[in-house]
Amino acid sequence: MNVVVTLDELRLARSKLIEPIGLVPTMGFLHDGHLSLVRQARLECTSVVVSIFVNPTQFGPHEDLDKYPRDLQRDLNLLASAGVDLVWTPTNEVMYPSGYQTWVNVEEVSKPMEGAMRPGHFRGVATVVAKLFNAVQPQRAYFGQKDAQQVVVIRQMSRDLDFPIEIAVCPTMREPDGLAMSSRNVYLSSDERPAAVVLSRGLFLAKAAFEAGERDANHLRKVVLDSLATEPSVKVQYVSCAHPDTLQELEGLVNQALLSLAVTIGKTRLIDNILL
Ligand code: AMP
Repeated sequence: MNVVVTLDELRLARSKLIEPIGLVPTMGFLHDGHLSLVRQARLECTSVVVSIFVNPTQFGPHEDLDKYPRDLQRDLNLLASAGVDLVWTPTNEVMYPSGYQTWVNVEEVSKPMEGAMRPGHFRGVATVVAKLFNAVQPQRAYFGQKDAQQVVVIRQMSRDLDFPIEIAVCPTMREPDGLAMSSRNVYLSSDERPAAVVLSRGLFLAKAAFEAGERDANHLRKVVLDSLATEPSVKVQYVSCAHPDTLQELEGLVNQALLSLAVTIGKTRLIDNILL
């Protein structure tokens, strides 16, 4: 497995790979969710490239950029075992050299939900993913359904900017109790960790209600809110029942929906979602 840092090294290493190339963008501190994307890429592509970059431009000024968990050596061991060909670990200076001033804004689908709670987040995401796409030029890129709005934003960006890249979406990997795997789960204290089960429990209850015939968007949101309310330590930022493509909030009866939520538990911010 080749590990490179600079753009020149990346381009040289990339030119030696056999296509189709699959790209898995990550911020590192890898867990089985990330590795499920790598496994899917390994199945579908001849070469697999993983990027590890904690992208500063997608963090707000009061967010967890400085304490975001990192363990590069462990990540590299996991990726080598998973059969990855090339890992790109650019520095901030490689991605955003001094004088950097170009940004990708995906307008409408960046506005609600995560975009409303984290102003500028998707500008950072879309910009860094566009740069990763340009540098690596993969045939396919793999993203997790865990970050559902990110998938919608990247699809839109890729379409609008004519990237000839297939966007592949992999299901959310969960802990045995249902908690969606996330690098941020390590922030949860031993008291907070059990409380986090109410996120997925609420989403699963809403899915069961939907499958039993419940179609009212308000009721579906309420099933999730009621589950979250059972844990006093869980503070709700939003519970959304939105159109899966436009992300417009839905009212009345729904045939399909993206049910998503963001909460904080103590200082830790968690998101989760389920497709109905
Ligand atoms: P991150 O390192 O958090 O930026 O995540 C990198 C990629 O892994 C993104 O496409 C995420 O959506 C995906 N991912 C993160 N957690 C999970 C999970 N629990 N299941 C599946 N994919 C995930």
